[in-house]
Amino acid sequence: RSKQNGKAKISFYKEQYQYEFSRRVDIQNKIKENLEQENFRIFYQPVYCSKRQKISGVEALIRWPDSDISYTPDEFIPIAEECRLIVTLGEWIISTALQQLSLWQTRFKIPLNLSINISPIQLQSEGLLAYLLAAVKQYDVNVNSIILEITETAFIKDNEEVTDILTTLSNNGFRIALDDFGMGYSSISHLISYPIDIVKLDKSMQSSDGEKGKRLKVIEGLSLMLKKLDFDIVAEGIETQAQHNLCKQLEIDYLQGFLFSRPMPANDIDLLLTKNADDSI
Ligand code: C2E
Ligand code: MG
Ligand code: MG
Ligand code: MG
Repeated sequence: RSKQNGKAKISFYKEQYQYEFSRRVDIQNKIKENLEQENFRIFYQPVYCSKRQKISGVEALIRWPDSDISYTPDEFIPIAEECRLIVTLGEWIISTALQQLSLWQTRFKIPLNLSINISPIQLQSEGLLAYLLAAVKQYDVNVNSIILEITETAFIKDNEEVTDILTTLSNNGFRIALDDFGMGYSSISHLISYPIDIVKLDKSMQSSDGEKGKRLKVIEGLSLMLKKLDFDIVAEGIETQAQHNLCKQLEIDYLQGFLFSRPMPANDIDLLLTKNADDSI
């Protein structure tokens, strides 16, 4: 009987595995298709400068095409990484977002930063720097306004190679942001050994749970340390006024979250930038 149970279990796992595998292949094919047909979309989420009470920049966030089944970036980006489609997808994102930035800069004549998420595989792919430089030239944007967001998982594999890549990007004028800091992989040593300009405090740092007192002290201590190290700090995932107040108290300069703006299509950013002059948060 137990043998039979075992067999049933194995076939259950096998089915699960096969299901998971075919799901991945299916998503892979869809990514390929959507890329070829240029169906993907990019949403932009404003990042606010609290001192100036203005939009300082936007983060580009990929969105699955409008269709019956939709996947979140957390679902399909890892799959695009697995099959290296992330390189092509990443190039499309760079071109599209830089072109958009160029339009905004011409139309609104304001300095606006653009943050682009770069996945570890994309970071270590051969042509990234050349592609970025070509796009900067083609769309005639200021290289300093481009922020490349890297997550710490990028540092796990080959530290020396990653240092070299980031240093080269930095020497070419791109700014580097460490994304999702405080999430679990965080290591203080990354802050010292990599050419990082901006640290984004992960939204998990914002959640207030039972350990409120301790969590608060961690955020206080972290932001103090980051300021001592001269990083620009962005607080991500701000959803409540209480979180905003805490950021004010800690003098965190850059703020991003649903409380201020959700990620939105470029057209909606146009509207925000139009009234940016009297915008306040
Ligand atoms: P991320 O780079 O840390 O982006 C921030 C995520 O938090 C976004 O989710 C954004 O929609 C969400 N967010 C913003 N404000 C709030 C808030 O107040 N509360 C909550 N709960 N969430 C908030 P999204 O767009 O689903 O992206 C998830 C992750 O997928 C990103 O995390 C990034 O790691 C990756 N990703 C998204 N777009 C791209 C892309 O174009 N290229 C690459 N390589 N990765 C991307
Ligand atoms: Mg990001
Ligand atoms: Mg983040
Ligand atoms: Mg993230």
